[in-house]
Amino acid sequence: MEKHFSKERTLIVIKPDGIQRGLVGEIIGRYEKIGLKMIAMKMLVPTPEHIEEHYTLDPEWRRVTGEKTIASYKAKGEKPPTENPLEVTEKLLKNLKKYISSGPVLAMVWQGAHSVQLGRKLAGGTEPLTSDVGTIRGDYVLDSYAMSDTDNRSIRNLIHASGSIDEAEMEIKHWFEKAELIKHTIFQEKILYDVNLDGILE
Ligand code: GDP
Ligand code: MG
Repeated sequence: MEKHFSKERTLIVIKPDGIQRGLVGEIIGRYEKIGLKMIAMKMLVPTPEHIEEHYTLDPEWRRVTGEKTIASYKAKGEKPPTENPLEVTEKLLKNLKKYISSGPVLAMVWQGAHSVQLGRKLAGGTEPLTSDVGTIRGDYVLDSYAMSDTDNRSIRNLIHASGSIDEAEMEIKHWFEKAELIKHTIFQEKILYDVNLDGILE
């Protein structure tokens, strides 16, 4: 049998700015309220090597992210710092390592139907200035590519959320041991997923 929708998992990491800004409860609350289930959580200070590995788990990440970033400069009518995607990513990666290893982060695994897509939807787009109102990045932080590029640093956007089911699987393995993932039931799953709804009335 195909794995049921309710078994999908995603990695959410509250980055150092999320912790420093006092937004841990708010961020966790949003994932709880949509109906996802937290099955693992830990606070740690990641090493720069751990962050580099995280972003390069997909061997195509350097090229794809470099090309995407160059295209986004051009779409805005700006000149990219270089035309070489790998050089662009090298700089991004250097800044990301500095940003995300600058203090404690909170890594979490959330499980539930469409958890990867919902993780991204609640997170909002990568650049807080243009993320939708109502999203975590749209509501709680004001950073922009214009400012972060001027200051030669990473954009501070509070959280990481896996981009695809495949990415989530690789990332969860990178951040957690299998034994750290706690398989359990929460009672609201009954109303979210139960087909017959026969457990409510006495
Ligand atoms: P995320 O999954 O929403 O964090 O975004 P990506 O995986 O596409 O990109 C990873 C990181 O690369 C982002 O958090 C940014 O720090 C950086 N990044 C991505 N796109 C751009 C861009 O167009 N300009 C700049 N300056 N940085 C970018
Ligand atoms: Mg990403």
